[in-house]
Amino acid sequence: MTATKIDGKAIAKEVREEVKAKVAERVAAGKPKPGLATVLVGSDPASEVYVGMKKRMCERLGMESFSHTLPADASQEEVEALVSKLNADPTVNGILVQLPLPDHLDEEKVLQAIDITKDIDGFHPINIGRLAQKGREPLFVPCTPDGCMYMLNKAGAKLEGANAVVLGRSNIVGMPMALLLVKQNATVTICHSRTKNLKEICAEADILIAAVGRPEMVKKDWVKKGAIVIDVGTHRIDDATKEKGYYLTGDVAYDEVAEVAGAVSPSPGGVGPMTIAMLMRNTLRAAEIQQD
Ligand code: NAP
Repeated sequence: MTATKIDGKAIAKEVREEVKAKVAERVAAGKPKPGLATVLVGSDPASEVYVGMKKRMCERLGMESFSHTLPADASQEEVEALVSKLNADPTVNGILVQLPLPDHLDEEKVLQAIDITKDIDGFHPINIGRLAQKGREPLFVPCTPDGCMYMLNKAGAKLEGANAVVLGRSNIVGMPMALLLVKQNATVTICHSRTKNLKEICAEADILIAAVGRPEMVKKDWVKKGAIVIDVGTHRIDDATKEKGYYLTGDVAYDEVAEVAGAVSPSPGGVGPMTIAMLMRNTLRAAEIQQD
């Protein structure tokens, strides 16, 4: 069996084109361009790259972006004051605080300070709380798991009653992913660093989400025949034999897993492009919530 590749790059392009068209429609109707404000505290190189990517994507889709950078030693009050200012700014529809924050800052308090109608990352405790409750819906869903769900739907996954295994329980990926799958009536097992018999549990999954942060940990014998596998992991591995001196890979050993899975998303080219596409979609949605 050779798995179908779930092409996140192509699916993300579709999402972005849809967003771009809707933004153009709004602007043509005399509405302001949706605006995304990013808040970066400190100068972590990876975070700077992510913020830059989001800014460029806003421009490509016809949206406004506003970048705010505070020094690494910014106080809790300074960060929260900036968030309050952005909450009150009508040109800002979505606020993204780039995580992780420096250790001296209280991340939960900062996220709680964001107006929930501008919480396009979906990390506000009220949005996460609603995600966890039956019969309640969050205004926004965290972008990476949202992108995974979109890919699962595109891959034709039957979620109702499916045995889904989420490898990882982080606040930004694993846990919201598991909550989303439960909302779609899957039977969900969440695995983490203390889980026993990891391989055996994964091998029972109809749907396997790998968000463990360990390069190519998920091998062929971890995957049930015909399962749908989404690889959230992103890793840069130094390799002097490669032209760039490194290669990119995910949490899944793609080539061997593709021999048994029904469908599998690659990394790179899978969840990564979906995450940013969903962020743009959430920013548009924020503008719709606030202005329509
Ligand atoms: P994280 O916060 O480090 O969480 C990793 C999770 O995996 C934790 O729940 C941890 O368990 C569990 N884990 C770690 N080692 C394990 C092991 N040997 N066996 C079983 N479970 C283990 O990572 P994250 O932020 O969720 O990210 C996961 C991966 O996705 C990373 O590679 C990251 O770069 C990638 N990512 C990609 C995107 C994207 O847009 N493409 C976005 C976010 C993250 P404990 O809870 O017990 O510690």
